[in-house]
Amino acid sequence: MKHLLILGGGSAGVMLANRLRKEVPQDGLKITVIEKKETHIYQPAFTLVVFDLDVPENLVRPMKGLLYEGINLVTDEVTKINPKSNSVTTAKNGDITYDYLVVATGAKYNYDEPIGMKAGLEKAEKVFTFYTLDGAIKLRDALKNFKGGTIACTVSEMPIKCPAAPMKFIMMAEDYFNSVRGIRDKVKFIFTTPMPAVFSREPYASKLSEIFKRRGIETIANFTPSDVDNEKCVVKDYGGKEFHYDLLCIIPPHEGESYIEESEGVGDAANWAHCDKHTMLTLKHSNIYGIGDATDFPTSKTASGVRKQAHILSNRIISHLKGEEPTDTYDGEIICPMLTKFNRVMFAHFNYTESMSPAIESYANWVLKVHMLRPLYWNLMLRGLM
Ligand SMILES: Cc1cc2nc3c(=O)[nH]c(=O)nc-3n(C[C@H](O)[C@H](O)[C@H](O)COP(=O)(O)OP(=O)(O)OC[C@H]3O[C@@H](n4cnc5c(N)ncnc54)[C@H](O)[C@@H]3O)c2cc1C
Repeated sequence: MKHLLILGGGSAGVMLANRLRKEVPQDGLKITVIEKKETHIYQPAFTLVVFDLDVPENLVRPMKGLLYEGINLVTDEVTKINPKSNSVTTAKNGDITYDYLVVATGAKYNYDEPIGMKAGLEKAEKVFTFYTLDGAIKLRDALKNFKGGTIACTVSEMPIKCPAAPMKFIMMAEDYFNSVRGIRDKVKFIFTTPMPAVFSREPYASKLSEIFKRRGIETIANFTPSDVDNEKCVVKDYGGKEFHYDLLCIIPPHEGESYIEESEGVGDAANWAHCDKHTMLTLKHSNIYGIGDATDFPTSKTASGVRKQAHILSNRIISHLKGEEPTDTYDGEIICPMLTKFNRVMFAHFNYTESMSPAIESYANWVLKVHMLRPLYWNLMLRGLM
């Protein structure tokens, strides 16, 4: 019997494993997931936690209950892929062999740069991030106690998970101090991005620029932070620009997991799995696929993209099992719900080549994002039913 080994039990690993287990009987394929953590976290609701629109308990579930019967879960850390012997080295369970391998280990944060970011985050007095659940909770509490001054959101580098999330944060914060706290006149908002503009895709880019301008959110483009000075409360960039903050929300640089570096021919310089953007196969190995945030697909790193990719990869693996040439390919499709203010969400829906939805803020989109997506995730998406 063929053995499919999936590295990582996040959104991508669980969606793929469950979808395949549903499609392929147990005597047709052995499926193993290696995951280093005991719990699974629903990250798209971190932004909601910051504004008290969801509670942390709803976002975390034990790994064990998430996989269908007939899927082996190994709780361990992958330390290396050995493509020559079709095996993976783990911290506790030695080497595990595979016929097909899927890299689904997501992205990790690099806290070494900009200088001073790590110390600021550890102090958690004026510097925060909502890219972890713990960080989202701390930022929520800091916003509740904020009396006035400058709130800045700065993106260190690209790519990051859900590139729209920092924009959601700053737009929601502006509305929070306007409609919830009623002290908008005491708060200045700054948004910085290393990119030439807040967003690259039309028609969403123009719409977001118009919102930022109308609501007085200052934008500093082409800003790659080099230093966070926790004493003076100043962020500097490599080009000599700087700004002052009273509360800083920072998105740390992202990279692929370190074990990719040890795995011959799997990753690029930033440890992203180097894959064909359509077939999802790594470029140098015909039986190693990549999925989700761990890859270098030139599209946004989102759970919505992962859902589409899991569907395609599941079909491709079924084709392999039948001895057929896989024909399913990924077109880069993602859907990103952008919270623009309380009760309004705009969906950015696009693929590698075109935008697929208008730039419209609506209450119906809000209901879907804030009230429906999390239950849909736990009950349908993760189970491979949607
Ligand atoms: C603040 C924020 C907001 C977001 N908002 C949205 C949104 O609105 N919509 C949307 O669609 N997406 C959103 N996302 C993105 C979404 O959460 C990710 O794209 C999605 O979770 C990616 O799934 P993944 O399986 O690739 O990675 P992950 O879900 O991160 O899973 C990777 C797994 O691999 C495991 N792992 C790592 N290294 C090893 C190892 N060496 N050995 C064993 N296991 C390992 C990790 O423990 C983890 O469980 C958001 C993310 C963040 C942070």
